[in-house]
Amino acid sequence: MSRKIAAHYALIDGRLERNTIVEVDDERRIVRIEQCSDIDNRAGVEFYPGILIPGMVNAHCHLELSYLKGAIAEGTGFAGFARAIGSVRGNYRDEERITAAAKADATMWEEGVEAVLDIANDELVMGVKERSHIRYKSLFEIFGLTTTAINKHLAMAERHPHSSITPHSTYSLQDQVFKEACAANDSVISIHLLESDDEGNLYNKRGSLAEWYARMGWECDFLHYGTPARRIVESIVNDRRVVVVHGCKATAEDVARLDNHFKTAVSWVLCPESNRYISGIKPPVEVLRKAGAQIAIGSDSLSSARTLSLIDNLRQIDDIPLEELLGWATIGGAKALGMEDTIGSISVGKCPGLVIIEGADLHTMRLTEESHARRLL
Ligand SMILES: [Zn+2]
Repeated sequence: MSRKIAAHYALIDGRLERNTIVEVDDERRIVRIEQCSDIDNRAGVEFYPGILIPGMVNAHCHLELSYLKGAIAEGTGFAGFARAIGSVRGNYRDEERITAAAKADATMWEEGVEAVLDIANDELVMGVKERSHIRYKSLFEIFGLTTTAINKHLAMAERHPHSSITPHSTYSLQDQVFKEACAANDSVISIHLLESDDEGNLYNKRGSLAEWYARMGWECDFLHYGTPARRIVESIVNDRRVVVVHGCKATAEDVARLDNHFKTAVSWVLCPESNRYISGIKPPVEVLRKAGAQIAIGSDSLSSARTLSLIDNLRQIDDIPLEELLGWATIGGAKALGMEDTIGSISVGKCPGLVIIEGADLHTMRLTEESHARRLL
């Protein structure tokens, strides 16, 4: 039995259209998109007040950290947060960690998330992801200035479908192991990039990261690259799919450098809630839009976010047309994961899932405090 679904507006080809009926078959495949009037009282049409969108894509999450919800204070700043997470991580039992991940996964599905690019450090919650309705791509991240080998992570990735490895960032790995992590397979690479000034400053031996490393007696053998963006283009071959996360302190030059190097457009994943929680720094929306960069949205983890809601993240980005914002959370994320052929837009032949956004202001076309997303199918 197919279903015909309609709402006040529907996100079609990047635009919010009125009077649209979306017909899906019982395998969730979109079989027809029809324009007509009187959609709210047509026989056989389910009408929902609000905005109909395809299932969303969370392009940056750490589901395994869900147990740290509320454990770290807001406003610690970037280096403070990194230290705090290290000190609280060991205080929980496996059961608590698995339960928290399962709850966060179920909430994401109900709130309309179709796919997640998820960062992992161990295998504890892989079962949660493998049983989920959500399609996860897991990247085991290589992390630590004293880390020299990638084989443990490669072995974890081999034990699970839809998973591979990735370097954590350009400030947390020495030269050789960073390159090895990038070259180990041909899957997507996801790198935390320029979340704060500390990262760029490290390359000039200044700032809180540089001070922390000096106190720990850690030396960096990669500062000769000069900037994080230069390190990336000089370490990764140009035919890889690369996702960079945060980018708050990225300059137009950084964006252009990555853009000129990689054949597939780099996806910039914004995590406004996490940035607000940790440092109050804003995502680089204007720099990226000016450069025509590809943008996606991520929740980051519950250690640095009140919720994993993508709508809550979108609500925190000011003065961007709603259809553009919704595009970042849907097709933008699908492109980041390389899944744009099957999900991310309401198009005939795709199986993107359908989601209703309720509580948006349909006169000003803005998300409000009451706005939330709910899965229809
Ligand atoms: Zn992250």
